[in-house]
Amino acid sequence: MTSDAHPTDRFGVISDIHGNLEALQAVLATLEIAGVGDIVCCGDVVGYGASPNECVALLRTREIPTVLGNHDAAVLGSEEIESFNEMARDAVLWTRDVLTPENLAWLAALPMTIERHGAFFVHASPCSPSEWNYVLTYVDAREAFNWFAQPLCFLGHSHQPFFIALANGELYHIRQEEAPLDPLTRMLVNVGSVGQPRDRDPRAACVVVDSQARLIQLLRVDYDIAAAQARIHRVGRHRGLAERLAHGC
Ligand code: ZN
Repeated sequence: MTSDAHPTDRFGVISDIHGNLEALQAVLATLEIAGVGDIVCCGDVVGYGASPNECVALLRTREIPTVLGNHDAAVLGSEEIESFNEMARDAVLWTRDVLTPENLAWLAALPMTIERHGAFFVHASPCSPSEWNYVLTYVDAREAFNWFAQPLCFLGHSHQPFFIALANGELYHIRQEEAPLDPLTRMLVNVGSVGQPRDRDPRAACVVVDSQARLIQLLRVDYDIAAAQARIHRVGRHRGLAERLAHGC
C-alpha cells in the first residue's frame, strides 16, 4: 500500500558522514545556502574518519534526526566486525575508544528507521534494516519497495548515489543529478556519502528535496580534503583511509 501524496515541503538528506568533519561542515553550509530548513541523516555518522566526536556533536546541536548505521552499531559493539576489512575494523575500535560517553549514548539511542516529511529513511535496505543488506540490483530494489509504504525512501550504505523509480510496475534508473517528483512514481534514493564517497567523485554528496518545484536534486560539494586527511594522519590511523578520500573510492 502506498500513501497518496509526496511531501509538501523542502528538506535535505545526508548519509555516511563517517567522522569526516570538514565534509560535514561543507555540506551543512551548502544546505543552508540552498534554503533547506530540515535535514535527516541516514546513518554511519562515525567510522573511518578522525572526527567522530565533532560530527556527532554537530548533529546533536542541530537536532538532526538520524537513523543507526552499521558502523555506528559496530562502534556500539552491537554489530560483529569480523566482516569488516582491516582499515574499517581499526577505525571502529579507535572510534569506540575516543567517543565520549554522551556521544556513545546518543548513538545508542538512534532508531533503525524514521518516517518524516511523508518519506521513509533507513541506512541499508528497508527490507530487514538490521541485516544491513545492500540495494545494488533491480532485484534488491524491487524487494525493497515492498517494505515501505511511502512514495519515497532515502538510504545510504553503499556510498554510491542513485535514483531508482517504480511506476506502473516498472523499475528504472534516473541517470541524472535530479529526478522529478511525480505523484504516480515511487522512488528509492541513495543519497551517497558525505564523508567517504565511492563513486569516483571525491566531492561530498547530499540531497535536496524540493516539493514545490517537484524535484529531488543530488548535490556534490567541494570540501577541504587535505585537512580531513591531515587529521587522519594526526590520530595515527591507516594511511589508506586518508588516500581514498582524494579518489572518491
Ligand atoms: Zn557507510
